[in-house]
This record gives sequence, structure tokens and C-alpha cells, in this order.
Amino acid sequence: MINSAWHNLISLAPYALSHEEKAAIFAKYGNELVKHHYEHCQPYQNILDFFHLTEQTFEQAPPLHTSMFKLHELRSIQQNDVFKVTTSSGTTGQQVSKIYLDKTNIARQQKILSSIVKEWLGNKRLPMLIIDHPNVIKDRFSYSARGVGIQGLSLFGHHHTYALNEDMSINWPCVEGFIEQYKDEKIFIFGFTFMVWQYLLQLLDKNQKRFELSNALLLHSGGWKKLIDQAVSNEQFKTTAQQYLGAVNVHNFYGMVEQTGTIHVECEQGHLHCPTWSDVHVVSPDNLIPLPIKKSGIIELHSLLPTSYPGHKILTEDTGFLVGIDDCPCGRKGKYFQVTGRVKRAEIRGCSDTQS
Ligand SMILES: [Zn+2]
Repeated sequence: MINSAWHNLISLAPYALSHEEKAAIFAKYGNELVKHHYEHCQPYQNILDFFHLTEQTFEQAPPLHTSMFKLHELRSIQQNDVFKVTTSSGTTGQQVSKIYLDKTNIARQQKILSSIVKEWLGNKRLPMLIIDHPNVIKDRFSYSARGVGIQGLSLFGHHHTYALNEDMSINWPCVEGFIEQYKDEKIFIFGFTFMVWQYLLQLLDKNQKRFELSNALLLHSGGWKKLIDQAVSNEQFKTTAQQYLGAVNVHNFYGMVEQTGTIHVECEQGHLHCPTWSDVHVVSPDNLIPLPIKKSGIIELHSLLPTSYPGHKILTEDTGFLVGIDDCPCGRKGKYFQVTGRVKRAEIRGCSDTQS
């Protein structure tokens, strides 16, 4: 039932709907989604019952904190239908979030990710340089956040080349061979923010090497914590990438393993954009009530994608603020926002700040 509703949603454009048009979609499909999880996930039903909601609507349903996915097995499908479990990659000894996916949900995540990424990369697959080592995706049943990112984005590339060896050293012959072959074409570079900084840009600097790419797009994501510790800003990251790689457009994106598929890509103005299928609220740390534009608080992420697990409303451990709605100078509709850091005293989740 809930899956059939998706036929209407899947072909929408990522950044074309106004706030009002999107609100109507979230009211209609979001409400169905809440009912679906209420009926198919006993722990979720218990949570909603606990709050004695007058209606089981998307608006009234409380967000689940990311830690709930570490502590409980939250799935709205039978065990037999679990096709893949994705995890956040915590440091050793920490509990990780477990996200249970069936084939339908995986296909939908991939389709939506594809619609979003094509807006930035174009329709053609590009030669792809991955700033990681190949063994990060060796286990095909269980992926860490890094594996999920690489696996999802690999579909937009060809001649996938892993830039690193397993000990995080640069595989120079591989990287130099790739660049020699494709330096005159548009290429796609992907990596986690810290990995790109530490194991590519810093090493190019140390070895006094520079590449002269003619047309590249670098998409990167992951925690900024380690870079903030090293006092590296987003702006400095971009400038350094251009200094050492050549003509490269750099776009950060924000997403979580709990809502794989709906990523929030940074536009030319430096704003993270909500695609059609997701919404962001910035809520007060005191009472979780949504805050107005420009007010800092905790980021709550909504997504219409999750049907096999109740990940449609997530309270993150990130802080940020909404910059505006529907009026970014880049021309894309929807909410746009910035992430400023982590909730203080939150459990350090690790995520892709951690090598694994
Ligand atoms: Zn924009």
C-alpha cells in the first residue's frame, strides 16, 4: 500500500517544488507513512501510544533520536525480508545504528539519490576517483556509512579508481595513471571530507605535487569535527582543493545513514539544499519546537523514503540553522540551511570522522 504511493513521488524534480507544494505532499504521504510504521513496527507503535497522540499524523509524530536505532531493532518488515543492514561506523566499543532495508527501500533510495546527484553531475557517467581504499566495501551484506556512500555514488561513475591503499597511503601509480588518462575530461571525485583533506590534499602538499585537472567535480561528505579541530573551514577546504587539483567544483553534502538517499548538497552559494523528498526543521534544544529562520538549534530531518524502518523523522545530534526557504540566489526551491556543529555533550558517534 505505502509502496504504491511512491509511483507519484519518484518522478518529481529535486528542487522545483515550493514550500506550500511540498507541505501538501508531506501531509498526504507522510501521514500514510506514520500509519504504516505504526501498524508494522511494534516498538514504534509503543512510542506513539506513549505520547497519547490525538492523531497519528506526520506532524504529530515525535522524531526518533538517532540513538534509538542503536538501542532497538526498529524495522517495519519481517526478518525474512531484510536484504541489507546498514550501520553508522562508530569507533570500537561504541554501539552503531542499524538500519534494516528491504529490496524496495534500497531501490527507492538509489532512485532518489540518482535524481539528486544528476542535478549536480549531469546525466552522463563520469570517470570516477574515489578517495578511499577498495576494501571499505568488501562486505556486501553490511555496509558502514562510508561503504554506503561509495556504493551509492559509484553508479554515477565509470573506471572507478580507488586513490588509497589500505594503510591510507596514496596509491600514486593508480592516481597518476587515472589523472593522466582523464585530465582533459570532466571527472567525478568522491570521498569523505576528512579523508580527502588528510589523505589527499595534505599528502599532495607534503610531497609538493599538484594536479592540473581541467574540469572536475568533487563531492564530499562526512563529519567536520576533525577539520574543525584542525581549524579548517569549508572555504579553506575548497581553496586548498583547487590549489592542488586544478579546476574543480567542490560541493559538500549532508546526509545520514538513517536517511540514505535524500542527501543535502551544497550549492554554489554555500547553502545545503533540501530535495523534494526531505525536509529539515531546526528545533529548540529545550522543547523541540521548530525555530524560525536564522535561529540556531538542533537539526531534525524528515524523509519520505523509509518504509522498511521508521526513519522518517529523525532528531540528529547536529546543530545548524535555516538560511531561507524557496529564495536561494542559485534558483533552487525548498529550504536551505547550514550545519554548524554537534550538540554539546552528545555521545560522540564517530560516523565518518572515524576511519574504519
Ligand atoms: Zn542555493
